[in-house]
Amino acid sequence: MSGRIPRTALAACAAAAVASSCAYSSHAVRPSDLGQPISSKVMEAALDLPGPVTLETIVSADWVVPLAGLLNLGHPKAKAAGLRDRDEPMQIYLHALRHPTRGLWVVDTGVAKVFKDHPSDLGIGWLVARELHLEKMTTRTALGPWLAAQKEPLAGVMLTHLHIDHISGMPDVPRGTPTYAGPGETTPRAATHLVLAGSIDALLAGHGPLRQWSFGPDPDGAFDGIVDVFGDGSVFAIFVPGHTPGSTAYAVRTPKGPVLLVGDNCHTRWGWDNGVEPGHYTGDQPLNAQSLGRLRALAARHPAMVVRLGHQD
Ligand SMILES: [Zn+2]
Repeated sequence: MSGRIPRTALAACAAAAVASSCAYSSHAVRPSDLGQPISSKVMEAALDLPGPVTLETIVSADWVVPLAGLLNLGHPKAKAAGLRDRDEPMQIYLHALRHPTRGLWVVDTGVAKVFKDHPSDLGIGWLVARELHLEKMTTRTALGPWLAAQKEPLAGVMLTHLHIDHISGMPDVPRGTPTYAGPGETTPRAATHLVLAGSIDALLAGHGPLRQWSFGPDPDGAFDGIVDVFGDGSVFAIFVPGHTPGSTAYAVRTPKGPVLLVGDNCHTRWGWDNGVEPGHYTGDQPLNAQSLGRLRALAARHPAMVVRLGHQD
């Protein structure tokens, strides 16, 4: 997500681009050393079997942002429902996965305490803090203190995408922790909010290269690619581009059944229930809508699956 971008900020960024500093991120990337491409049929055959991974979703922060960013208010269904732009409450989540042999992982990172309280310490300037409306954010559980209270160390991070509110906990991730994301997340194409772009590097500073999932084509055509993350059919990365070029959903097999983490393919409960894609926070709305339709179809084929959305429960 982000706020609207004032013309002056865009002009400043355009000027910076001339000085070649306005790519979305200059953070290094490398191919993933983890996971193997599989077909959707193989994933779906396993999905409803009880699995070994426990999943805990933690509300890291509460926030209020414009509904027009979270939901395409021009969609016929949104118009028919009479939805108009307004301040919309939402949450920033982190999802903790505990695997019996692979240890503790997080999907997305919540927020680091310093991100909300002292963003300038991270090199995040006043303009970005203003655009994010950080004054409307309330931290509930910062990643660092949460990690410190766990019995086991953090083994790795899986990101749904590289927007600032999904990596705002990275300053609390121990250096050297492997971090995975979909392909193309650092390219200029990912920059739907140019004024925020420089902050991505600030949040990733000191961390190793982003490891990009090696999605192959899904022979069954249900998705653009699926990776069996640990090779044991317990956690799947699902390529669902549109919100950003490398947007990735995760399906997790828990003892109680499957859980689908859709990321910002869909921010809101209303959007999921009605099949309406996000608003101006999303990069490629038609592609996002296609990926959302595919995820909803997956959920419909597996009615026991719990669906966790990008920013609302
Ligand atoms: Zn996003």
